[in-house]
Amino acid sequence: MRTSFRFQALSIVLGAVVLISVGLFSACKKDEDKPGKTGLNLFSIEDDIKLGQQLDQEIAANPQQYPILDPGQFAAAYQHLQRITDQLLSSGQLRYRDRFAWQLKIIRDDNTLNAFCAPGGYIYVYTGLIKFLDRESELAGVMGHEIAHADLRHSTEMLTRVYGVQVLLEILLGGSPGTLANIATNLALLSYSRANETEADLASVAYLCTTEYDPKGTAGFFQKLLDSGQGGGGPAWLSTHPAPDNRVQNITNEADRRGCQGGGTFENRYLELKQSLP
Ligand SMILES: [Zn+2]
Repeated sequence: MRTSFRFQALSIVLGAVVLISVGLFSACKKDEDKPGKTGLNLFSIEDDIKLGQQLDQEIAANPQQYPILDPGQFAAAYQHLQRITDQLLSSGQLRYRDRFAWQLKIIRDDNTLNAFCAPGGYIYVYTGLIKFLDRESELAGVMGHEIAHADLRHSTEMLTRVYGVQVLLEILLGGSPGTLANIATNLALLSYSRANETEADLASVAYLCTTEYDPKGTAGFFQKLLDSGQGGGGPAWLSTHPAPDNRVQNITNEADRRGCQGGGTFENRYLELKQSLP
């Protein structure tokens, strides 16, 4: 009786261990199938979320530098961008689809050829970038690239690299108030690593591959930069490395490797988006 009871108890415990292991294993396996191999990151998911909220508030409080296009007045423009965002988020390829905010804002600045996504999923797209491009798939590709930086937590990975493990452990464990604020402020001054840029390029292919868009959308953007003679300098988010021509090739190779089927470019719909901007 006692033996049987102990055996049963042991079975239950073993069963639980097996279940947990299987659960963990399948969770890892599932994540490994998703794009990007993230490097060392000492921050928690909560830190990403808090950093993003803070940056979002700083941007909202600085309309001079970040004039946000009014979502009420320019509802059509936001609807176009939301359609693109929804498809990227529904790709099944994101790690933090349900954890991060994934908010979308348009910055009214025709001279800035840029988009960015703060940690925790705060997406910003400049009117300058929208007007520069000709195809919806290109904008979808660039937005996918930015979303990937947030979903792969490249900002906090970068901070881990820049601050160094020792310093960060002291800051994070010390919990001195305002430290995260200082870190957030410094974020704007730093740039992603070359490896992070490549990861984001490849992730954008993975996202687009499941949507109605041409999976090589980001390559179209780089090609246009090269064609217009801006490939060398280019906007800050390009970081000029890897060189745009290499990136076009890498993106094309990744689309082939994944066996992505076609996808559209949607020029007409994109023209409507451009015309809905001020
Ligand atoms: Zn990037």
